[in-house]
Amino acid sequence: MFKVAIAGTGYVGLVSGVCFAEVGHQVTCVDIDEKKVNLMKSGVSPIYESGLEELMQKNNAEGRIDYTTNFQSAYRNADVIFIGVGTPEQPDGSANLSYISTVARQIAESVENDCLVVVKSTVPVGTNDKVEQFIKDFLVNDVRIEVASNPEFLAQGSAVHDTLYAERIIIGTESKWAEDRLREIYEPFHLPIVSVNRRSAEMIKYASNDFLALKISYMNDIANLCELVGADVQDVAEGMSFDERIGSKFLNAGIGFGGSCFPKDTKALDNISRENGYELRTVKAAIDVNKDQKISLYKKASKRLITFNGLKVAVLGLTFKPGTDDLREAPSLANVPLLLEQGADIYAYDPVGASNFSKVYPEGDFDKGTITYVDDIEQALANANVCFIFTEWGEVKAVTPDAYKRLMRTPLVYDGRNIYENYDMREAGVEYHSIGRASVN
Ligand code: NAD
Repeated sequence: MFKVAIAGTGYVGLVSGVCFAEVGHQVTCVDIDEKKVNLMKSGVSPIYESGLEELMQKNNAEGRIDYTTNFQSAYRNADVIFIGVGTPEQPDGSANLSYISTVARQIAESVENDCLVVVKSTVPVGTNDKVEQFIKDFLVNDVRIEVASNPEFLAQGSAVHDTLYAERIIIGTESKWAEDRLREIYEPFHLPIVSVNRRSAEMIKYASNDFLALKISYMNDIANLCELVGADVQDVAEGMSFDERIGSKFLNAGIGFGGSCFPKDTKALDNISRENGYELRTVKAAIDVNKDQKISLYKKASKRLITFNGLKVAVLGLTFKPGTDDLREAPSLANVPLLLEQGADIYAYDPVGASNFSKVYPEGDFDKGTITYVDDIEQALANANVCFIFTEWGEVKAVTPDAYKRLMRTPLVYDGRNIYENYDMREAGVEYHSIGRASVN
């Protein structure tokens, strides 16, 4: 078993740390955020992920995992240091590597033993060559340091399951020593390992995420055409899904992809290609389609209504997908400011995302509109003039068509997740607009 240190306790770092502890490694998680560290020490997860807190508490109690802001003590004698800090998008679309370089410097100044540094964060191709050189340049002690790439493929909402039962582990190394050590760390998981060189590993991550983003945008593009020609995108997707070359996953049309990965990873790869004098036209198209898709329902509703001014607008779902409290690049964030600008009185419901959203849009009055957060969906719908569905939480899916008719002042629903069947909404007397399907009533 190895002494493992993890830099960063976000979705990737914390889930990895807890899972490494679960399979028997001795783990120390490092974060610069003292509040987070204190929460984790007391067994409280700072992020919402199904099953995470239970696993955390178990491993806390069994003494296999600890949390600290003191990076020196965590890195000094570690056999392996995983880096899972953020690589957010910069205004030009490129990845911000400043968190990575800070950790690299901290590692260089702390390590006293031979150590493998493993970058889990998504970084542009070639970054890990530079990280290795950077650490060597600042190394204080005479020890062996190598950097490996080990991109992460977990999806928020099922992160613990995705880590313990990953479909594959990608390891990108430049020496047998690094490859063997990394294989040994993952050995207790009994998962398929694909071993490649460092640059290929970095590329696998972008190529995978951007392929999925492309698949979503392709279906959204087809959905928009379906509306124009009178086809139903869900039927079209079902028909396509039987073809094994296409597969059945990621064929759901909707209000566009969000989250911390697809939006930034498409822009980063576009940026990497431009820097190399190449235009990645397919990925660029996915970015463009997605930008328009996020506000497509708002545009439809604007055409249908004279104004949003003074209307009660129910917003169901704020997070970028169910099962997470993450709002990064969520469609709600593209639509709420437009609605507020138009003077809407928004009543927003989300089972876990409301408190994060209220940090960006605090409850109360804005220049023109207002926003109120409610704990139950009926409150949001009561007397509402229009309803937007942005996230397909189970609680939202459980709302029956007849509830819209019964509770709303005018039962007018714009559904970005195609939750309902058209015939159910027709029967209930709800005016229903969704993605890639005919409108009803
Ligand atoms: P996050 O923003 O949730 O967490 C990053 C954490 O790093 C924060 O807690 C922050 O306080 C901490 N941090 C910053 N500087 C630090 C330092 N010097 N030392 C220690 N901690 C520090 O990030 P995330 O969503 O977990 O993503 C991390 C990386 O993994 C990104 O590159 C992302 O693209 C990639 N990734 C994310 C997902 C996902 O679903 N979120 C999936 C696969 C890959």
